Amino acid sequence: TNSLKKRKIVVLGSRSVGKTSLILQFVENHFIDAYYPTIEANHQKTVKYKGTEFQCEIVDTAGQDEYSIIQSKHVIGVHGFVLVYSVASRNSFNMVQNVYDKIIDFCGKQEIPCVIVGSKTDLLESSSPSRQVSSTEGAQLAKQNHAAWVETSAKSNNNISEVFELCIAEIEKGTSAYIKQ
Ligand code: GDP
Repeated sequence: TNSLKKRKIVVLGSRSVGKTSLILQFVENHFIDAYYPTIEANHQKTVKYKGTEFQCEIVDTAGQDEYSIIQSKHVIGVHGFVLVYSVASRNSFNMVQNVYDKIIDFCGKQEIPCVIVGSKTDLLESSSPSRQVSSTEGAQLAKQNHAAWVETSAKSNNNISEVFELCIAEIEKGTSAYIKQ
């Protein structure tokens, strides 16, 4: 049949929070322990949600900081947003609200279909970097922005497909973002 629905999802957040790792674990089912700064890449994967198949185009971005200007290609024609921070980085957590506000401003809307992701939870099991952002804070940030929220590990493949299922769910709620009809 020709019933495949197309959805464009953009993944944003500070540099090195694990955006590329999250996407590659989801699309290609593997994890690479090296860091290659992302230029920009598009990935495709079909996601089944409530019996419907969605052909997802997932856009990996270079990463944002407080001085970044949101690019129109990361908003126009985009159905849903995944905003990633690392649970081991307070600074990356603060960037989520910053990026969210810029998208909202760009769209001229009160809210957008969005999933906020706390990444790298596996780090908490090792001795090295400890948690800088509690689950309560993560959930609270999501709640105040009417977004979904999940904590993940690309390394141990924990909650990765959930990110994109939650994103489809947010999109299907109908709070459509900036889509040119
Ligand atoms: P991006 O710049 O946001 O795309 O981040 P990357 O995906 O390139 O990851 C940055 C670094 O964090 C790399 O060294 C990854 O191996 C590491 N990383 C990414 N995800 C995880 C994770 O879930 N757990 C751990 N321990 N490291 C991760």
